[in-house]
Amino acid sequence: MQYVDSLLDLIGNTPLVRLSRTLDLPATGGPLVLAKVEYLNPGGSVKDRIATRMIEAAEASGALQPGGTIVEPTSGNTGVGLAMVAQAKGYRCVFVCPDKVSEDKRNVLKAYGAEVVVCPTAVAPEHPDSYYNVSDRLASQPGAWKPDQYSNPHNPRSHYETTGPEIWAQTEGRITHLVCGVGTGGTISGTGRYLKEQAAAAGRDIQVVGADPAGSVYSGGTGRPYLVEGVGEDFWPETYDRGVADRIIEVSDADSFAFTRRLAREEALLVGGSCGMAAYAARQLAHELAGTPEGEDAVIVVILPDSGRGYLTKIFNDDWLAQYGFPSGDGAPHAQTVGE
Ligand code: PMP
Repeated sequence: MQYVDSLLDLIGNTPLVRLSRTLDLPATGGPLVLAKVEYLNPGGSVKDRIATRMIEAAEASGALQPGGTIVEPTSGNTGVGLAMVAQAKGYRCVFVCPDKVSEDKRNVLKAYGAEVVVCPTAVAPEHPDSYYNVSDRLASQPGAWKPDQYSNPHNPRSHYETTGPEIWAQTEGRITHLVCGVGTGGTISGTGRYLKEQAAAAGRDIQVVGADPAGSVYSGGTGRPYLVEGVGEDFWPETYDRGVADRIIEVSDADSFAFTRRLAREEALLVGGSCGMAAYAARQLAHELAGTPEGEDAVIVVILPDSGRGYLTKIFNDDWLAQYGFPSGDGAPHAQTVGE
């Protein structure tokens, strides 16, 4: 019989899928662009990886006791990962979300049995109602433990121990560029460091490229609002290792969303907005490398963190796009619905 004891045993070992039509490059030669499809994790995102490691480490250190409560500010995916593990181990979960997070995502957390507290996005991080401060207050209750994905070393470490080695093995050590959206910075820092170390041991270098929403601090912004979820920050988290990224490519909300729609329609990859953002940056990189000697052997791996299912009422809804002045998902100017 073939089965696993628990869903948690299925975390990681996600596949690489070649991007083709959306690159708009000649079919032969040139850079190979491979997407690491993280929505195939059992909780539906890359965050399953960090949830397991952070909880196991807290149990080992005694920070999380039997019957305890997990409190975390999360845009949804980390919450799902934590809720899955917590359910298996009998912990309670309370998640704090900014109000820009889609209702779909919040409902998923509730479906796993978690409680959700919603906070305003349009306040400074130091404001008492900011989602960082609300979660700090909740986490100071007796029996509560806050994983804090923004400072927890097990966040980047889980990528150093899983995502990085998987990509190295899957590409047989031929990866030349890693492209990755940056939120907490855990994915890019852990994965990027592992891959750079492996490449250095083989006597070469790997370029690590961050993709960032225009306005976020990583691409030199001040933290002004952007709509793409899960990436970009208005502060520098401890989990972001500034020594890893060689370059940051800034991507607008409009380009992120338009490319997210293209991935679904042209590659059958129904993924989230941060995936569209990262893949758009990977496509830009591929265009820069195409036709150069370096481009011939380039293997670009881009990480696609989550599924598009959580964004059906937003990025995949033309009326929502039009509300923010973006063209419809087909790239054509938005046509008003009759009767509107
Ligand atoms: N995309 C989505 C949808 C996310 O939820 C996150 C996590 N915040 C990221 C990308 C970025 O990953 P990381 O936090 O590891 O930088």
